[in-house]
Amino acid sequence: MAPDQTKKSAASVNGAPRGAPAPKISFVSLGCPKALVDSEQILNRLRAEGYELTRTHQGAAAVIVNTCGFLDSAKAESLAAIGAAAAENGKIIVTGCMGAEQDSIRAKFPDLFWITGPQDFDSVMEAVHTAVAPLHNPLFDLLPPQGIKLTPRHYAYLKISEGCNNRCSFCIIPKLRGDLVSRPAADVLREAETLVAAGVKELLVISQDTGAYGLDLKYAESRLRDRAIRAKFVDLARELGSLGVWARLHYVYPYPHVDDVIELMAEGKILPYLDIPFQHASPSVLRAMKRPGDQEKTLERIGKWRALCPDLTLRSTFILGFPGETEEDFQFLLDWLAEAKLDRVGAFKYEPVEGAPANDLGLAPVDPQLQEIRYRRFMELSRAISARRLKDKVGKRMSVIVDQATARSAEGRTKGDAPEIDGKVHIASRRPLRVGEIVTVKIDSSDAYDLHATAV
Ligand code: SF4
Repeated sequence: MAPDQTKKSAASVNGAPRGAPAPKISFVSLGCPKALVDSEQILNRLRAEGYELTRTHQGAAAVIVNTCGFLDSAKAESLAAIGAAAAENGKIIVTGCMGAEQDSIRAKFPDLFWITGPQDFDSVMEAVHTAVAPLHNPLFDLLPPQGIKLTPRHYAYLKISEGCNNRCSFCIIPKLRGDLVSRPAADVLREAETLVAAGVKELLVISQDTGAYGLDLKYAESRLRDRAIRAKFVDLARELGSLGVWARLHYVYPYPHVDDVIELMAEGKILPYLDIPFQHASPSVLRAMKRPGDQEKTLERIGKWRALCPDLTLRSTFILGFPGETEEDFQFLLDWLAEAKLDRVGAFKYEPVEGAPANDLGLAPVDPQLQEIRYRRFMELSRAISARRLKDKVGKRMSVIVDQATARSAEGRTKGDAPEIDGKVHIASRRPLRVGEIVTVKIDSSDAYDLHATAV
């Protein structure tokens, strides 16, 4: 917090004079979809109070930078964004995950106007009020009912909880965001219904640990109109599946109750897609990582899931070169991946994030060159698996949601592709397609990550 942050501006209480132009705020949003949802919350509050958003830092009353502090590379990107904003504007408000590390930010930028940690929306608003008084006019309805979305109109992230009860040794998120706090089910569903009413066709369920949803609430019921709905992962998934739009689950760990959700996928209620960050496969590395869920029997369970729901797409991320990872551990991971045949895979080279317990485990770091070699070997295998799995789709008819469209062609995604992180379907069409439309296509060909298709 800046020294002057304790002084609340009088202007912030009274608001700007009537007829004054709306004050402009510039905004930079960095980081993961969860940070994006936080940005949306701040933007909604700004708009509700009459602030206007501007794309340029120069001339803005203040610049808000929502930072990411997960990896050192993300921190570097955050610092660069702060620097770029500070070069053009004297009132920089830093928030988000990296905001929890005030000292390291101040060491580089001693004159920053305000620094606050993740999800401290009240403090961000206080900073904005101090920079420039709000133009609140209750006669204006400045917000659409679904709020401001940073995603395109046809899909939206739906955050169901915040924080995490796990303590994975490479991760500082519980330190930054605290323990699991779930939203009541009725709250989540009300937001989902509002989004659907506003034209959203695909809901992307996110949290730090989606399968743990409701644990902190002891699965308490909440009322949505005349019905009581439990704050339980499976119940929530079933309810979202009844809204008539695509519902996609991200960040699910292989807890036993995931099997129930696969049944919903097999019934076509929610998308046959699971984003499970396995992070590794070798039991000794997983133990050192302190990963949640039953990680030992995952191959068996993946086989069971695919038998129940043959269309299931599995996406995952992995950390390569975790301290103490031996050649045997890495080979175990490659063999595991070859057998698991995950459809979509992302990988990171391990970074010793400051404050992560993994740094104090006394395990030998993996040489960066070796990390790079393992990364390439891993990506080569995952690319070959992806290419083979996509080839199996050639000749099939599939539903695709359109993300971009021109008169004769479009880009979209199948039920097995999440926006931004997975592959695309390049569509040729004799009629113009609309963004957000769900069309049937025939898959003509495939490459390593994408499909090529014709609208039918
Ligand atoms: S599950 Fe592990 S990696 Fe994910 S947020 Fe929680 S502690 Fe971090």
